[in-house]
Amino acid sequence: MAKSRGKIGSAGRFGERYGKRIKTLTSAAEKSKNARYKCPKCGMTYVKRESSGIWKCRKCGVKFAGQAYKPRTE
Ligand SMILES: [Zn+2]
Repeated sequence: MAKSRGKIGSAGRFGERYGKRIKTLTSAAEKSKNARYKCPKCGMTYVKRESSGIWKCRKCGVKFAGQAYKPRTE
């Protein structure tokens, strides 16, 4: 993504009709959505969100359920 977007991040594409609070929330959610997490099976940090609540490890291929934007809460 372009650096020029600054603080708004990927939420910037939604334009100005959303409030600042929404933008912040969306930005945080997208950040977390694109983050990688540690796999519960192989321990590698290769877990990415496959769809809402579904997570998949790109290393060993294990799939598991989690929260929409985080694999697990513990
Ligand atoms: Zn794994």
